[in-house]
Amino acid sequence: MSKDQIEEIKSKLDIVSVVREYVPSLKKNGRNHFGLCPFHNERTPSFSVNEELGIFKCFGCGEGGDVISFIEKVEGLDFIKALEIAAKKAGVELRIERSGFSEKRNKERERLIEANHLAAEYYHYLLGKHEYGKEARKYAKSRGLRVKELKQFMIGFAPSGYENLKNFLKKKGYTEAELLSWGLLAEKSGHTYDKFRNRLMFPITNHIGEFVGFSGRILDKNSKAPKYLNSPETLVYKKSQIVFGLYQAKEAIRKQNAAILVEGNIDILSSHMVDVQNIVAPLGTALTQEQLKLIKRYSDNIIFAFDTDSAGEKALLRSHELAESLEMHAKVVDLNGYQDVDELIQKGGDWKKILSKAEPVVDHMMNRLKRRIDMTSAEGKDEYVDSIIALIATTESSVRQAHYLERLSVAVGVDVSELKTILNKYIQKSKKVDINETSIVETKEKVIKRSNSRADLLVAALLSHRERIRLFDLSLWSEILSEEQTKILEMAREKTVKELFVDLNQAEQERLKDIMLLPVDVIEDEGLFMQSIKLIADSVFKDFLRAEIRRIKFANLNEQEKGEILNKLVIRLQSLQ
Ligand SMILES: [Zn+2]
Repeated sequence: MSKDQIEEIKSKLDIVSVVREYVPSLKKNGRNHFGLCPFHNERTPSFSVNEELGIFKCFGCGEGGDVISFIEKVEGLDFIKALEIAAKKAGVELRIERSGFSEKRNKERERLIEANHLAAEYYHYLLGKHEYGKEARKYAKSRGLRVKELKQFMIGFAPSGYENLKNFLKKKGYTEAELLSWGLLAEKSGHTYDKFRNRLMFPITNHIGEFVGFSGRILDKNSKAPKYLNSPETLVYKKSQIVFGLYQAKEAIRKQNAAILVEGNIDILSSHMVDVQNIVAPLGTALTQEQLKLIKRYSDNIIFAFDTDSAGEKALLRSHELAESLEMHAKVVDLNGYQDVDELIQKGGDWKKILSKAEPVVDHMMNRLKRRIDMTSAEGKDEYVDSIIALIATTESSVRQAHYLERLSVAVGVDVSELKTILNKYIQKSKKVDINETSIVETKEKVIKRSNSRADLLVAALLSHRERIRLFDLSLWSEILSEEQTKILEMAREKTVKELFVDLNQAEQERLKDIMLLPVDVIEDEGLFMQSIKLIADSVFKDFLRAEIRRIKFANLNEQEKGEILNKLVIRLQSLQ
């Protein structure tokens, strides 16, 4: 498709009504629409849509773009797919150049997902009805798997022959080369054969339910083959970006406002059997940030239910750190000595009750280590303090840091102030930066850059009544406005935002987009408008002057010079207060 076509689609689509399908809370406020962000969990709206430029941005999580990238992100699609949907909504017929590389890739993607889907249906059929699936059916029954879960996850059975799936999919028109590269077949001395044999098959779907791969669990207990065999990474399966079970769990996660994280796919099935459905697993990988971000779309709360061995403990600490870095709230459950959630449920443990006792990770580790470490010895106390301080250091909220320092103080009988010193030392060491004066005091460039970004609000307010821009002398704001901002304001005297947008270079356009998405009250009364502009400008100036004063104080100047500059700055600051 051509660039013109994309522009045509965008111009025909009303971004507000497209977004509203996903963000029912969207309301007009000033010249923008605001609502609860569909990309992260929030209670107060920080998601902004500007109709005039056809753009959106979330000031909470930073997602932003135009109507097509909105569809791309909210539906979890690639650009081409999103464009197709947008074209349909806009009533534009998409002319796709067949030779394009991305088109070829897109076609392969579709074929691959379709082949996986067919394979899943094939395996599922064998497990449910076919003679081949007899033993597997027995196994599933012995584990108490119900038809409901088998269907929902489309669990299947890969029989022990070498050419079952191969023949089935070849008849459907796929080549051996394709099936080999997608990991459905394996190859040995020039011959291809079914990769998954005699395994219970768990189809892996992405969060919109597309079939991207498989995880097969061996059924023969005496086999030397690995217990689990997963699909290799392909065009559609990047294991660090897929969360197993998320497609089936996302509604429950939203409703319960928490996601339970386990290690294995079998844990998930068992949990569904006792009606706990807000449960997911990273598959064949330790939890990654991308996976957590996906989960965070549905809830900020996460409950870890890992195996309780020392590897599980390490995984827990790492996951806690990741969750903190995304400002998610992590809790952990004690599996009461069971190896995993599956065992717990199979042996009749009360999963729901255990979940209700989930506690924050730091509390959990404080209790757990207390049982393991001899707290009466000095060495024991040292070890305990070191472990807990490391956890507190990764905690983002300073309120919670203080809370845990106090509890730690009680537990080991050491002053909070002493523990604080240990914590600060730990943080400095782990960040490997020396805290010297230059890092506290900003450089001139930084001061200016920050003032410019605060002045965005000033520009935004002025653009809400562009005919009034001429009432102000822009040169008075030269210290706080960037060249881009000044240029935009000067142009806006003559042109509408939409008209002047096309005359800007890319960097200027990006700046203007950010400005246009800011929340601004539209004030009709001219006097009130002038007052409000002055207030905004004063506040940006105050911030600028304070930062300048701090900077000059530490600057490398002779004392007399310094005194004179500071004096001027202070007088200016006082005049604003
Ligand atoms: Zn957001």
